[in-house]
Amino acid sequence: MPKAIVIIFEFVELGCSFCQTTIVVSPGCDHRLQATATLNLIAGPKKLSAMADDGDFLWSSPTDQGSEVQLFDRDRHIRYLEMNYQLLPSPYEGQEINRLTLAYFIISGLHILHALDRVDRDAIIHWVLSLQAHPKNDAELNNGEFYGFHGSRSSQFHSLDNGISVPNNSHLASTYCALAILKTVGYDFSLIDSSSILKSMKHLQQSDGSFMPIHRGAETDLRFVYCAAVISSLLDDWSGMDKEKAKNYILSCQSYDGGFGLIPGQESHGGATYCAVASLRLMGFLEDDIVSKSTSSSIIDLPLLLDWCLQRQAVDGGFQGRPNKDSDTCYAFWVGGVLRILGANKFIDESTLRDFLLTCQSKYGGFSKFPGQFPDLYHSYYGFTAFSMLGEMDLNSLSVELGISTITM
Ligand SMILES: [Zn+2]
Repeated sequence: MPKAIVIIFEFVELGCSFCQTTIVVSPGCDHRLQATATLNLIAGPKKLSAMADDGDFLWSSPTDQGSEVQLFDRDRHIRYLEMNYQLLPSPYEGQEINRLTLAYFIISGLHILHALDRVDRDAIIHWVLSLQAHPKNDAELNNGEFYGFHGSRSSQFHSLDNGISVPNNSHLASTYCALAILKTVGYDFSLIDSSSILKSMKHLQQSDGSFMPIHRGAETDLRFVYCAAVISSLLDDWSGMDKEKAKNYILSCQSYDGGFGLIPGQESHGGATYCAVASLRLMGFLEDDIVSKSTSSSIIDLPLLLDWCLQRQAVDGGFQGRPNKDSDTCYAFWVGGVLRILGANKFIDESTLRDFLLTCQSKYGGFSKFPGQFPDLYHSYYGFTAFSMLGEMDLNSLSVELGISTITM
């Protein structure tokens, strides 16, 4: 009788300081079915049975790569995304209301990897469209609610304490992810009820130009200005936001050190800086590749911004989100993307960045936040985008300001 396959995982909460996601991999726990499925996808059934015959199989370190020269392992990344497409591991339960966001990481990730043929396009379109909130009539469009997309099925029907069902929890970030997925799979945008999205989105913009993500009341900051800008750009209609007001809000978030905080006066942060610069670019207030052209006409303090961004590349080659923080895979996109939009990516030390990112590449496929940890969808996606920006072979190019790969219709 073959020895049992022993799979040991650590439960690791991988928190991202920007999006607050906590995700991923399991513990020495009860995930054997999923783990076996994972093994099948990663190793293939033949290799898996060979491992079983060899005896106990112990995964104690996710980056036990020995002294081999590491390469970007596209095939393994595809299998990692496929596995998550088929079955999200149970540690993602806490992210249920962000299901559309997780789907965006998977679908758009597969597209970057040139592997969109692994998913059922029609089923994805049907599922995404089923998450849109629709007003019952035109009058409802003026009731202050937002008619975008819900993050998941469970957030579509919400009950108040008094038992009254409140069906509309649609959210700007979910709407961004829904449209990004639909764009990625080539859906015809003329078929989308964009009018409801854009008319109701106007109600979310605040007097200072910022956006609230949901009509029930929530924090307002640059993340949601960015979501509104991408939604308007993807729908090719800017009637849902006051661009001048949004621009002034963004400019008020540039800090004394050149980076941008999420709100005026807050510490500069890589994610917030990306949202600011990408939004200005999408709204047409920043020229593409502005560094190569002129700095004198820019509406932002460009030299200071460049200085702040370039100082985020640490000695290990990775990017940090703020001074005195460890390098983290996702900032290769957030900060590296800003430099790309500005046309200053030539100042990045690409060789050491690549080396750092490969230390975060998991042997199970995907990328982790820090070297030697388990992968999660969020950091995997931004690892793929970073390698796309680095010009890795066989990857689709990136539309950096939209956060998705370049789509040619
Ligand atoms: Zn991160």
